[in-house]
Parts: sequence; C-alpha cells; structure tokens
Amino acid sequence: MLIPESTTLETRVLLLAPIGNDASVTKRLLESAGIAGFCCADMEELLSEFKRGCAALLIAEEALGDVSLRRLSHALLAQPSWSDVPVIIVSTRAESSAPVHKRLTRLSPAGNIAILERPFRPLTVMNAVQVAVRARQRQFQVRALMLERERILADLERNVERRTEELRDTNSQLEEFVYSIAHDLRAPLRSMQGFASLLVEQYSDLLPEEGKNYAKKIFRSAEAMDAITLDLLSYGKLARSEIVLGPVRVEVAWTAAVFQCEKLIEEKEAKVEAVEPLPIVHAQTATLTQVLANLLNNALKFSRLGEPPRICFHAEEQGEFVRLWIEDNGIGIPCQYLDRIFRVFERLNGSKYQGTGIGLSIVRKGVERMGGKVGVVSEVGQGSRFWIDLRKCPGESRSHASRI
Ligand code: ADP
Repeated sequence: MLIPESTTLETRVLLLAPIGNDASVTKRLLESAGIAGFCCADMEELLSEFKRGCAALLIAEEALGDVSLRRLSHALLAQPSWSDVPVIIVSTRAESSAPVHKRLTRLSPAGNIAILERPFRPLTVMNAVQVAVRARQRQFQVRALMLERERILADLERNVERRTEELRDTNSQLEEFVYSIAHDLRAPLRSMQGFASLLVEQYSDLLPEEGKNYAKKIFRSAEAMDAITLDLLSYGKLARSEIVLGPVRVEVAWTAAVFQCEKLIEEKEAKVEAVEPLPIVHAQTATLTQVLANLLNNALKFSRLGEPPRICFHAEEQGEFVRLWIEDNGIGIPCQYLDRIFRVFERLNGSKYQGTGIGLSIVRKGVERMGGKVGVVSEVGQGSRFWIDLRKCPGESRSHASRI
C-alpha cells in the first residue's frame, strides 16, 4: 500500500544539532525504535520542514541563538488551534547557567517545551520522544475531527441552501398557481352572481319565498367567494410583481389608507389618530398603503361590542429601522395565535366578523417584499398592537402628519 506523503511527514521527528554528529547518532537511535528522524542543517530548514509536517522537534540548545529562538517562538505561536507540536530541547547547561535557563524559559509560553539535561541515557531520550510522538498523534486526531466537522457543516450549509432554493421555487409555483386559479374563477363567479340577482329581480312573481331565499343565498355565497378570489389575486400580485423601493412618506401612505377605510370609520364612529411626526421609509407607496389599509381595516373591524374603536398610529425609531405601530382597543388576540394569524386563511372569529383570512398574509408578504418585518403584541380583551419594521431613509427629514 502506498503511504501518503503527509502521513510519513507527520510521523517523523525533526532533528537540529548543527555541531558534531549528535543529530545522525540520535537519528539512528530513533530509527532503532521505529521512529523516523530527519536531520536539519539549520533553523531555516527546520522551520520549513515543520511547515510540511512532523511529529516532534528535537533541538540541541547550541542551535538556539537569539535570532533562531525568536524565529522558533514565532513559528510555534503561529500554529493552528489543534496543533501544539512537542519540542524537546537538549541542553548541557540549562540548570547550571542562569542566562541559558532564562532564554529557554522564554520559549515556554510559545509551545509545548520539554528540556532534557545532558548527559542522559539513550533510553531517556527515546522515552521522551515516544511520549511526544504519541501526544502529537492525538493532535492529528483532533485535526481530523475538526476537518470532519467542517466538512459536515459545509455539507449541511449546502443542503440548507439547496432546500431553501427548492422551497422558494415550490412557493413561487404555488403562488403562480393560486393566482391563475383565482383569476379564472372570477368570470364564472360573476355570472353566478348576475344570474342569481336576475332570478330575484325578474322572476320574483314566479318564485315562492323559499326559492327567492335560495337565489339570495347563491348571490351572497358568490359574493363572498368573489371577495376571497379578489384577495387571493392581490396576494398573488404582491408576491409576483416587481417592487421598486424608494423613499416613501409614511404620512402619504397612511392618509391614503384612512381614505380607503373612511366608510367603516364612519359606520363604527371610530376615533383614528396619527401621532406626528411620521418618518420617511424605504418602501413602495402602493404596497405600504395596502399594508396600512389592511391593518387599519382589521383594527376597525375587530372592535368590542358597544365600544367605538380607538386607533392610534405612531412611529418609533429603532437604529436603521423605523417601527410603525397600529394600536387598537378591540377584542385582542389569544397569545397562541399571534403567529398563525399571518398565514393564509387563518381566522379566529369567523362566525362573528366577516372576512377572507387573507388580509394579514397580504400584510406580511407586502412588508417582507419591502425588506421589513411584521408582528403583533396582544392579549384577549386588551386590544392589539400591530407593528411593522421598515428601513429608515437615511438623511431624510421627518414630515408632519395631521391628526385625523
Ligand atoms: P380577516 O380579517 O379577513 O379575517 P386577516 O388575515 O386580516 O383575515 O386576519 C386574520 C385573523 O386575525 C382575523 O380573522 C382575526 O381573528 C385576527 N385579527 C386580525 N387583526 C386583528 C385585530 N386588530 N384585533 C383582533 N383580531 C385580529
């Protein structure tokens, strides 16, 4: 079997003993115990071989002048997190000479240093090298684990990206599908509505009361279904259409939203207030207007019996974003539904309040397409506080909104 070069490199001990034949003697000694040795001529060669891979360094203290010591120190400190190469320094004077001792201890913070005092028996050096080699093998195991972990993480990331892309595709295909169905349903629905009302208007003499009631029910059901298809169409349009973002004065979008809900405001004798000043945000006027109109419409609709709605609209700066709040004094929302209500067709009060269950999905889609977020804070009976976060327009001054 061919042993990869890196494996052989990583099992060898690098030897640096420039004076005499210590290096070759030690090399032979190690080889007799099955450990490969590699003699280096100087610190430069030792450090370049160290980069290629080794199990340990065995260095004679005489080879460690000030410059070499510094270079070795740097190389040891520059090791990757898994590596702490064992370094055995063979010294004659480490204990007896204070300056030598001081110099060698300078190395200690840089690495895994052991000092072997001469004279020593061959067994002592063999022992020290074997312990070092074994410790080094553990380090290579840690490296292998780390590499494996990185590989798994990279795979996982790739998988998540691929899945997200697939989901995005499926989602947009579904949105496309919903859009085309909603579009095609409108024509037959309108003829159902038309014929049902013709039945009531032109054949009322011929129809008994029960028949007229049935025709009215057909008309009302077709009307409700038309409202759903219309909402699905605006949801689909919002999901598919290109949105160009730019500076939008929130006051303008809010005024337009209030105008759209005027009839309901009057009917409910609601008090709607906007707290000035209102900011300028990074958005699209038509989408922001639709989002605010849907939230305002809900705030008006889900009011408590016998209590006119009080609605407050205000803004709050949050770093790069602006949070727009629409607060009402309505029926509130149980906390376990605060997330769910933003999904298509999720309705909590179906029997008492009319609706399609698509309004908040439109809100979420619209806000997300403008790069923002939406959420709600609420408790049953305590009103609801819907918020949307949109990016602030840098350098734009705040405008002033009127109280309504
Ligand atoms: P719809 O209003 O047509 O029912 P939405 O998607 O707009 O559908 O809202 C989903 C549900 O969230 C509503 O049916 C209602 O139960 C709840 N909801 C939304 N806005 C409010 C609000 N301001 N106060 C209380 N409940 C709300």
